[in-house]
Amino acid sequence: MDRLKGKAAVVTGGAVGIGKACATRMAEEGAQVAIFDLDCERGEALAGELGRGGWKAKFWRCDVSVEAEVKAAIDAAASQFGRLDVLINNAGIAGANKPTHELTEAEWDRVQAVNVKGVFFATKHAIPHLKASGGGSIVNLSSIYGLIGAGDVPPYHASKGAVHLMSKNDALIYAPDRIRVNSVHPGFIWTPMVEGFLADQDDQAEARKGLDALHPLGHVGEPDDIAWACVYLASDEAKFVTGTELVVDGGYTAR
Ligand code: NAP
Repeated sequence: MDRLKGKAAVVTGGAVGIGKACATRMAEEGAQVAIFDLDCERGEALAGELGRGGWKAKFWRCDVSVEAEVKAAIDAAASQFGRLDVLINNAGIAGANKPTHELTEAEWDRVQAVNVKGVFFATKHAIPHLKASGGGSIVNLSSIYGLIGAGDVPPYHASKGAVHLMSKNDALIYAPDRIRVNSVHPGFIWTPMVEGFLADQDDQAEARKGLDALHPLGHVGEPDDIAWACVYLASDEAKFVTGTELVVDGGYTAR
């Protein structure tokens, strides 16, 4: 119940999918949660739902690829909650799925702007608040695609590989400030992103079975599988854990 009691957290891309599950489980564990997203309708709805459940959550519209918006939203959340202890860098996009030689510069840049620069901006502007709290935890959503190649979505692989190493390096930079930085590497998790990934397949049921079969445990994961990993890394249970990668992939990368 109270694994995050007294802490204040920001979850980027928190309106749906993995971010929604993180925001929900963190609020239920006692954190005050700031939900950042582009999707105002679903972000407001989630904050309202959590509030009616007796938990503390507030929505801010924030595009993580725009530095001024990220700074304004993080400062506002820290001011509203009186502190900041946890940043979950979850917002991300899959981007164009073409072989490298067919990609445009704009397609490449858009994925890096959200998935890499977004993590940089949020980390940059959260750090002063985490330092003021005497320490904290940053959790960066990388992917199995930040560990191995799958032969598709090249900009996405590059972005998630970058996030993996940014996490380790920031872990070293901020360890003296008692700010821990870790990455989480999900296998396929059933969210709007993965539904979109399968959208152009003729036989959706067959495509889903194919995705399931990629995971030795026999199925794709659920958003809560990742949310609980984030709750752990955000909590004091993980007080000696920094610079590591937590792989939650049903065995995908165990081969
Ligand atoms: P999702 O279903 O697509 O949800 C992502 C959320 O982020 C959406 O609400 C989206 O809003 C928001 N978002 C997109 N661009 C944004 C921006 N520039 N600023 C703020 N918010 C933005 O994604 P998900 O599947 O939950 O994935 C969450 C994270 O886990 C991502 O970093 C993803 O790469 C990573 N991941 C996912 C999987 C998986 O299988 N699902 C596997 C490995 C890693 P809009 O809908 O309005 O665009």
